Amino acid sequence: MLIHRAIKTLISKTGWYAYNTYRKGVHYHFKFSRAAALLDAPREVIEAFQAKRLEKLLQHAYQTTPYYRELFKTETPDISQIPPLEKQDIREQFERLCSTAFTAEQRIENATGGSTGTPLKFYQDRNYWNQRNLSVYYFDRWAGWNFGQPQLVIWGAPTDLENDGHWKHRVNNFWRNQYWLNGFHLTDKAMLAAFEQMDQHPPQTILAYPSSLYEFATFLSDNDLIPKWNLKGIISSAEMLHPHYRALVEIIFKARVYNRYGGREVGLIGMECAEGRMHINCRDLYLEIDSPDPYTAPGEILVTQLNNYAMPFIRYRIGDVGMLSDELCPCGNGLPILAELLGRTTATFRTRTGTLIHGGYFTRQFYGIKGVNQFQIIQETLKHCVLKVVVNTQWTEATRRSLVQCIQKALGGDVVVTVEFVDYIPVPASGKREYTISKVGADMGP
Ligand SMILES: [Zn+2]
Repeated sequence: MLIHRAIKTLISKTGWYAYNTYRKGVHYHFKFSRAAALLDAPREVIEAFQAKRLEKLLQHAYQTTPYYRELFKTETPDISQIPPLEKQDIREQFERLCSTAFTAEQRIENATGGSTGTPLKFYQDRNYWNQRNLSVYYFDRWAGWNFGQPQLVIWGAPTDLENDGHWKHRVNNFWRNQYWLNGFHLTDKAMLAAFEQMDQHPPQTILAYPSSLYEFATFLSDNDLIPKWNLKGIISSAEMLHPHYRALVEIIFKARVYNRYGGREVGLIGMECAEGRMHINCRDLYLEIDSPDPYTAPGEILVTQLNNYAMPFIRYRIGDVGMLSDELCPCGNGLPILAELLGRTTATFRTRTGTLIHGGYFTRQFYGIKGVNQFQIIQETLKHCVLKVVVNTQWTEATRRSLVQCIQKALGGDVVVTVEFVDYIPVPASGKREYTISKVGADMGP
């Protein structure tokens, strides 16, 4: 068993190096060491680096994007005077935000998904992805991950509910040494299979949506299944990590949970350290709080992505609320600290047969749908769901039919879906936007 495990780790480690060398060139290892050294450097060093990158980005944006050229009026604007970039601006000014220095082939299309509700398409470039991956590799090490080490991933499957077994996905899982449990479709059977598999081949870390992780921990606890995996750490990502999620998960898995904060639009924003503080990824971005005093009054988070030159996001209002801390962290890392974070929430839906569907499945259905500006899906009961939409002129009867079908496909064909047309969807006082709400508790199960 031990030999088998060591060989698998070695194969996977080789796979990671081959993949990274292929994607990033032969100097990959050097690049990673350099990125890590910068992220470990004293605060003044990283701030000087950040200021230089920021100046370069602003110049690039002014010179090559019509949107920013008109907005800045000068090549060296004061960043605090630039109006924040809203999601609505990205939709309406899409072409004018794209840099003329990039051809269509050099742009990589991406879109918000998972917990971010309002569908939004944008472009990123190859360098953005290279830098983003280096940061993920660096910060995941804080939670005990390393290349080739076995990992349990509880995440949405790449495409659809039924696509778990696609061969490409399997090959990827093999060389990455990852075992996937589909967070979009958590059945008792799949959770039991994952537990048994992990008991045979224990992972060293878990990477998961916190809501799915919580459901998995609850399932194990309810069924007296006790993981003895000797985990180094658990990475929680893509949505809010509630205190009660963390508490249960740390008890069940006997490992620390590290909160990783990010967004598809801008990459990894922050990562929690062993001392429980969330450090800001200043190598890749410049973060501001839209508040009169960001150290005492929480405000909306504005992110400037320093590496994406294909479509610069400058002071992008990501939709979360936070506050800064001026503390120097006892862990010794010099990156500044995000003291408080109030993010978006994603619900877990339950079907009549007891299957759990991650809210991200529903928000994903809104990809590329042009008729909807905002939406919220509320599971009222096991038999009734309400879809609230703010629509525009491109909404059609076919859009309605297709969305209702998607919801019924996941929750059951006999579930009644009521579509309500509204003028806007209010953000609760907490500042946490809710795209998916489920009023069906575990006690109302099958
Ligand atoms: Zn720290």
